[in-house]
Amino acid sequence: MLLLLLAAGPVRAQLLPSKPVVGISAARSEHGQPYAPQVYADAVVRAGGEPRVLAIAECDSTVRHILDGVDALILTGGEDIDPSYYGERPHPGLGRVSPWRDTYDLLLVRCAVGRGMPVLAVCRGVQVLNVAFGGSLWQDIPAQIPGAVQHMRRDGEPNIAMHPVAIAAGSLMRRVAGVPEIFVNSAHHQSVKGLAPGFRVTATAPDGVVEAIEMFDRRVVGVQFHPERMLSAGDLWVLPLFQNLVSAARLKDN
Ligand code: MN
Repeated sequence: MLLLLLAAGPVRAQLLPSKPVVGISAARSEHGQPYAPQVYADAVVRAGGEPRVLAIAECDSTVRHILDGVDALILTGGEDIDPSYYGERPHPGLGRVSPWRDTYDLLLVRCAVGRGMPVLAVCRGVQVLNVAFGGSLWQDIPAQIPGAVQHMRRDGEPNIAMHPVAIAAGSLMRRVAGVPEIFVNSAHHQSVKGLAPGFRVTATAPDGVVEAIEMFDRRVVGVQFHPERMLSAGDLWVLPLFQNLVSAARLKDN
């Protein structure tokens, strides 16, 4: 009987589909620990993946090591990016920057894309993604884009749908949303300006602000809104963004 159980064990394990590990880029907590808002992990779990908040490092070889055993990457929201990374001087409207996080996030996303990993880049993440591959940013939308819609609420409430986005036909975003226009939340004052080569814009706000970009093979997606917060607030249409990330990671394993 024992022998039978032992023999059955590995066979059963092979029949179970493995859960892809989705790495979540970290911020630092006030105690210096790697930290990511719980809503990112919740979204990964709902999409069938195994969330892992990544360790923090600022050198290339360590970041590569951190991504070993990770099947997909989520780049999370956060501070502004130092404009020197795209060859500009700081605009007076530039917000707080985080030098260590710029280094960490740029290394993470270049390594992940280099390995062919699927990526979902959120808010600051889409900005990092664009800059990492040669794009530039509007440093302060209210100052630099006259007549822009409100992209940041004064009360800081992150979950409320704030403005519509027009979604490009034939894009992953279109497949996810199922309609050509949809409302999103908005908690940013920067956005993509010069688009990095190899990407296309797949969603735009009424003022022309870029709200989503995709790499042409569709495994790498960046969104300027916060789908993880929308999902936690019950906005189910964004779930396929996370499901696509997990299923793309599963394809890589096969
Ligand atoms: Mn917006």
